[in-house]
Amino acid sequence: MSDKSKIEWTDATWNPVRGCTKISPGCSHCYAETFAERFRGVRGHPFEQGFDLKIVPEKLCDPIRWGTSRRIFVNSMSDLFHERIPDDYISNVARVMVAANWHTYQILTKRAQRLHDLLNGKLRFAAAQNHIWWGVSVENRNHGLPRIDLLRDSLARVRFLSIEPLLEDLGEMNLKEIS
Ligand code: SF4
Repeated sequence: MSDKSKIEWTDATWNPVRGCTKISPGCSHCYAETFAERFRGVRGHPFEQGFDLKIVPEKLCDPIRWGTSRRIFVNSMSDLFHERIPDDYISNVARVMVAANWHTYQILTKRAQRLHDLLNGKLRFAAAQNHIWWGVSVENRNHGLPRIDLLRDSLARVRFLSIEPLLEDLGEMNLKEIS
């Protein structure tokens, strides 16, 4: 959405997709939905359609235009692996990240099965890049912990976790190969 971010662990946000739908209990705390829905119906606003899923091809090349190296949170207002985003579009996002390799990218998802399947398939070319970090959200045992296993089993070179919102004690976690 913006080339500047107030999120402390990133420098900029980039949203070639806007909007999402809920998939697990952590989504009940979705800041993106709260933000987007404030602007539903505001003519001309990027979130005129609230949090409805929308592909935004005109934002696709933003990182190429940003000359200074940044740490970029990809799809801070969506989930890149949402089931309604076509594989080809996700591949285009990945191609931009590979091309604009002076930045570092952080991709965080709750849809770990699709991340796993694409990184081990069509997105293999992007999975191996050091400057692209792939992460999953872990909010509870039932939904969150299986995502860690899927991430570990993917070909991602750099893997990370977001443990928030933390909805319960996660117990023992296997963090092998999460780095
Ligand atoms: S997956 Fe993320 S962006 Fe989508 S509804 Fe859940 S918290 Fe919001």
